[in-house]
Amino acid sequence: MAETDTIVAVSTPPGRGGLGIVRLSGPSAYAVSAAVFAGIALQPRHATLAQYRDPSGALLDEVILTWFQAPHSATAEDVVEISAHGAPVLLDALLRDACGHGARLAEPGEFTRRAFLHGRLDLTQAEAVGDLIAAHTLFQARTAARQLQGSVAQLLRPAHQQLVELIARLEAGIDFADNDVTVLADDALRSALTAVERALTALAAGFEHGRFVREGIRLALLGRPNVGKSSLFNCLLRRERAIVTAEAGTTRDLVEDSLDWDGIPVQLIDTAGIRDPQGQAEHIGIQKSWQAAADADLVLAVFDTSSPPTLEDAALEARLATLPQALRVGNKRDLPQAPGWTLSGQTLFVSALTGAGLDALRAAVRLRLLPAAGGEAAFITNARHAQQIQLAIDCLGRCRAAVGSVPHEVLLVDLYEALHALDAITGQTTVEDILGVIFSRFCIGK
Ligand code: GDP
Repeated sequence: MAETDTIVAVSTPPGRGGLGIVRLSGPSAYAVSAAVFAGIALQPRHATLAQYRDPSGALLDEVILTWFQAPHSATAEDVVEISAHGAPVLLDALLRDACGHGARLAEPGEFTRRAFLHGRLDLTQAEAVGDLIAAHTLFQARTAARQLQGSVAQLLRPAHQQLVELIARLEAGIDFADNDVTVLADDALRSALTAVERALTALAAGFEHGRFVREGIRLALLGRPNVGKSSLFNCLLRRERAIVTAEAGTTRDLVEDSLDWDGIPVQLIDTAGIRDPQGQAEHIGIQKSWQAAADADLVLAVFDTSSPPTLEDAALEARLATLPQALRVGNKRDLPQAPGWTLSGQTLFVSALTGAGLDALRAAVRLRLLPAAGGEAAFITNARHAQQIQLAIDCLGRCRAAVGSVPHEVLLVDLYEALHALDAITGQTTVEDILGVIFSRFCIGK
């Protein structure tokens, strides 16, 4: 993809709106705008009012042009933003005109790609642009905005730096063994490796929390009919979404809705009550309940503790062990507890009728899924980053196991692989850094 091209796209969402923005980026962004707007002169970072006319000279719109002169723009190229009124025909005409004067239509993500290629953003920041646009909650937006500021690179920096220094020391030991560079002893090498592994493992552990921030939590309510699943579902949503009746088997299909749970998007799923199905539709519904439970990040297993436990309750309890994560919820605590219940100490007692215990339930869900409590600290939210970190941890582990049994040249293969894994997160290359460390920290040959 030649970067000599000037690209153009509509930057606002499809449809009609008060404003529609067309953005040009590339070496001829200015020239294209001048051609489309009859030789208008622009000053960098100044808004300029312009008239947009059709080929016969008839006025189509009054627009505002803003020129961001390279390299002081989002892409580090010349960028011109055209703010027109948000009429799709008008924006199409602007695109056509721009293309008629030498621009070409941008491909998806191409503006951000150019920002990356010109070093305006690292890969994690480019990904954060997408996350910020996709945010459903302000907490997600804040997390993405922090990544856009480079928080992932910052998180990685200490471990990355330690790894670069370790590689530099091994390289120096091999290349300059005669020049009074002490070769790193096996024990020191092992402990240096462990330190890097530990730092990376802490980052990888943060992803357990971070992935929920980025992707949200799937929470399924499971239980026999009439225990109050739909009531709890409505209560947690704070609206009457699912049908509640005293009749067993009311919920036949999955009912889903989303809510913002202190900034974490939660997809709440109400399921058909688990029992011996009466008919084909219920049979399918119950199969879907189990499927939803298997797909969920956490299952809330609901029991009605105001009536004695049934065989269905026992069957559910027995299957909880096979589910990824489950919390037991004893509902209807506003009523006296029936005899025969031996639920474990982890059971949360709530009342969907009065709302009692629901705050504790929310807190317990948070604690179970978000052990780091999130806070405002930076963490890894992207599966690609977590995978690369894991890859680096594996390489370091392999290297540590081989210390003492193979020459340093061989250890370096694993260390470089670990470094490449980390570099792939931000899209950076570090060979220069290594040379820098070697030549600045070791006084070899002056
Ligand atoms: P589901 O079949 O498990 O979804 O149960 P529902 O939510 O439809 O509730 C079944 C019945 O239990 C309804 O009559 C509800 O009003 C009642 N119910 C639900 N939760 C509570 C509660 O906490 N306390 C009391 N007393 N009744 C409840």
